[in-house]
Amino acid sequence: MKGVYCLIIDIKKNISPIIGTLGKINFKKGKYVYVGSAQNNLEKRIARHLKKKKRKFWHIDYLLAKKNVKVINTYYKKAGKREECKIACLLALTEKPIKNFGNGDCRCISHLFRIVKLNKKKIKKIFEK
Ligand SMILES: [Zn+2]
Repeated sequence: MKGVYCLIIDIKKNISPIIGTLGKINFKKGKYVYVGSAQNNLEKRIARHLKKKKRKFWHIDYLLAKKNVKVINTYYKKAGKREECKIACLLALTEKPIKNFGNGDCRCISHLFRIVKLNKKKIKKIFEK
């Protein structure tokens, strides 16, 4: 399946990991949402995110490799790559962006947000469209 997905991430402690080329980033403890897409084998991509041990390739890999960081929920749907940035834009309206995270090949402010207002109902709505 090709599609877009969101990872809901729980960061249990304040941490300051090095995120590849972005350098050190401070994360306050709390819940975060990451938007990504896979243009082939979406299921495999999501499974990869859930594995702790792997070669680090994307910004998100550096964050998810840390202790005290856990993916607590995933959402996905069939969609083209453009939908990924549409969701990121939508989240940027209400959530707090971690600037330049995961947006290497687009013009979004970020693809990772600290959750401020997002709730289950709202994210389900995004993924049922
Ligand atoms: Zn984007």
